[in-house]
Amino acid sequence: MIFLIKLSNLHIKTIFQMKKHNFAAGPSILPQSVIEKASQALLNFNNMDLSILEISHRSKNFVAVVENAQNLALELAGLKDKGYYALFLQGGASTQFLMAPYNFLPIGGTAGYIDTGTWSSGAIKEAKKLGNVNVLASSKENGYKNIPKNVAIPDDLSYLHITSNNTIYGTEFKEFPKTKCPLLVDTSSDMFSHVVDYSQFDLIYAGAQKNIGASGTTLVIVKQEALGKTGRDIPSMLDYQLQIAKDSLYNTPSVFSIYVSMLNLEWLKNEMGGLQGIEKVNFAKADLLYNELDTNKNFIPYVDKADRSIMNVTFNLADESLKERFDKLCSEAGIVALSGHRSVGGYRASLYNALPLESVKVLVEAMRAL
Ligand SMILES: *Cc1c(COP(=O)(O)O)cnc(C)c1O
Repeated sequence: MIFLIKLSNLHIKTIFQMKKHNFAAGPSILPQSVIEKASQALLNFNNMDLSILEISHRSKNFVAVVENAQNLALELAGLKDKGYYALFLQGGASTQFLMAPYNFLPIGGTAGYIDTGTWSSGAIKEAKKLGNVNVLASSKENGYKNIPKNVAIPDDLSYLHITSNNTIYGTEFKEFPKTKCPLLVDTSSDMFSHVVDYSQFDLIYAGAQKNIGASGTTLVIVKQEALGKTGRDIPSMLDYQLQIAKDSLYNTPSVFSIYVSMLNLEWLKNEMGGLQGIEKVNFAKADLLYNELDTNKNFIPYVDKADRSIMNVTFNLADESLKERFDKLCSEAGIVALSGHRSVGGYRASLYNALPLESVKVLVEAMRAL
C-alpha cells in the first residue's frame, strides 16, 4: 500500500486500467513504456525543466536524440558502416513518392514499378510527373489479392520501386526481385517487423506512424553512393544529399515524432531483442490469426495464402448478417480499429510490433464465440 501511495494518479491508472486491444493500421499502437517515457519528456525533458516541445531542435539535447535515432535505425537494419545514411524527414511516405524519382531518375531515364495496391499506385502517379515510368506488373485486376511473381525486369531501368507490404489489402513480398538497377522500397507498414536483408535496397522509406514511432516523421535510409546521378536541379527540401549534409536538420524537424521513434527503436533493440526477437512474436501472432481464419467457417481471408502479410491481416465475414453480432463481441472484448480500409471494407487486423500476442488471442476468442 505504501508503494501505491507513492505513485502518481496517472501512474496508478496506467498500471491498473487495461488498454484497448488496438488493431489500428496507422497511426497505431505503441509500447506502453514508450508512451510513458514520451509523456515524461512532454513535462520535463532530460531534467532540463523544459518540455521537449519547448527546446531548440539545434540544442545539444535534441541533436543527441536525432543521432541516437539514426544510429538505432541503421543498426536495426544491419546497415551500420555500410555506406547508408538514415534521415528523419517530414511529409510522410507520400512525399517519398516524389522524392525517390527526383533523386534516382535521371532526365530521360525510365523507372520501373510493380503495382501491388493503392500506395504503389500513388508512387507511380508521382514518378510519372518526372519522367518515364514502366509498370512491369500489377495485381489490380485481381483486386490486389496477390503479389505478381517472376516479373521480367528490363536491363535499362534507372531503378525498380516496390511496396514491400500492402497495408490496405494485406499482401507482402516474401522474396524481393533481383535487379541490376537500384531497388527502392516503400516499407511503411512492415519496416523492422522481421529479419530482412536491407542491403539489397538503395532506398528504404517508411512513414513512422505504423511500426516506427509517432506520425509526423518518415524514416529514410539511403545508400549514399547511389545519389547525385540524375543531373536534376532538385528542390532543396526534396534533395537527399542536402538533407544528409544537414543531418535531417535542414529545416525544423518533427521534434516530438523523432523522439518517440527513438524511444520505440530503443524498445525494439533492448526489450524485444531486435528483429530476430520481434519476428518470433510477429510470426506467432500472424500464425494464430491465419490459422483461425483457415479453420473458422464464419470468416474468409481476403488474399492469396502465399502472399499473406504478417502485419495487416484482412478478412471478411462469410455471412454479412453476422456483422452486428461480431462487432458487438469485439467491442465487448475491448477490441478497437478492426474495420477494413474504407476503399475495401471488411476487416483488417494490424499486428504491428507493439501489439501483444495477448490481443490476438482475445480477437481469436471473439471469432470463436461468433
Ligand atoms: C500509410 C502508407 C503510406 C502513406 O504514408 P503517409 O505517411 O501517410 O504519407 C505509404 N505507403 C504505405 C505502404 C503505407 O502503408
